[in-house]
Amino acid sequence: MEPRGIINLYRPYLNLPDYAIPVSLQEGSTPLIPVPRLAAEIAPGFELYVKYEGMNPTGSFKDRGMTVAISEALGRGARTVICASTGNTAASAAAYAARAGQRAIVLIPEGKVAAGKLAGAVAYGAQVVQIQGSFDQALSLVVALTEKHPLALVNSLNPYRLEGQKTAAFEICDVLGGAPDLLCLPVGNAGNITAYWMGFQQYHQEKGTGLPRLLGVQAEGAAPLVLGHPVNFPETVASAIRIGRPARGEQALQAAEESGGEIIAVSDAEILSMQRSLAGEGLWVEPASAAGLAGLVKQVREGRIDLRGMRVVAVCTGHGLKDPDTITRAMDPPQSLPAEISALESLALQEQS
Ligand SMILES: *Cc1c(COP(=O)(O)O)cnc(C)c1O
Repeated sequence: MEPRGIINLYRPYLNLPDYAIPVSLQEGSTPLIPVPRLAAEIAPGFELYVKYEGMNPTGSFKDRGMTVAISEALGRGARTVICASTGNTAASAAAYAARAGQRAIVLIPEGKVAAGKLAGAVAYGAQVVQIQGSFDQALSLVVALTEKHPLALVNSLNPYRLEGQKTAAFEICDVLGGAPDLLCLPVGNAGNITAYWMGFQQYHQEKGTGLPRLLGVQAEGAAPLVLGHPVNFPETVASAIRIGRPARGEQALQAAEESGGEIIAVSDAEILSMQRSLAGEGLWVEPASAAGLAGLVKQVREGRIDLRGMRVVAVCTGHGLKDPDTITRAMDPPQSLPAEISALESLALQEQS
């Protein structure tokens, strides 16, 4: 059988101590899907691919970092892991801790976590605690607690998370035969953009295949890296990036700048519109995952970027099933018909407008 999972596939390229005990759910190797029709709607003459990270075992890219962080924690004998989370880190930590036979405690901001993420954390058997405060407050608590006690912190402050997450850059380069010209992705706590930059730089050093420009995208209501100061009450429909004090903010800004790119913000309306456009290609992603491409569209519309001849990768970080409420809240109930073929006939033969 072919080896699977990012530790199996990339261990020589990961800074992972020998004592680590691999804990894997065969994460990674996610599809890189060309979306030529969507590309043509955005601008002429460029190639666009979606890195569909929702195809990871728990439905988000967090699994890449978690397999490495949990493997290290298990190897050093940690019996309990803990994290603060807007949802996906919680689900991922819960799953990998279950696989490792560890206890997982996850802190989430009260009332603010999407249904599919909370359900995941519970299903995998984590102890889920709602904190009466924001994600940022939950993270501060977890950091303070793990400084005092031997619990393993598995937020992206944990360097092993970034080691794992950088493998997405390796995969993109492996499939394309080199780096794309531009990579766009959502930015919340800013670990992922930092990890991608590490990955692209490492790949470039090994193989000399070039570096992409990075376009990091925040939501307007949670855009500390665009505003230049923390946001105390971040608000956005994109709950995965509803973060006001990004732990890796400095590194993210540096990565964007070194790459010749930038970090910008888009509105919730732009995010939801791009979520619909992606679904129109058969790719249902959670709102945060649409932010990267929404940012690209905004750059094009404002004449700030010329995509002609470029190869662009948009990272779609999490699956739409994580956050069904965003869709169901806004929809009319499905049309109801009597159980008669005549009624169905007139519907099916009607031209769709
Ligand atoms: C965690 C997450 C993000 C943000 O990633 P950061 O590393 O915090 O910047 C974006 N989208 C989804 C779906 C996520 O789960």
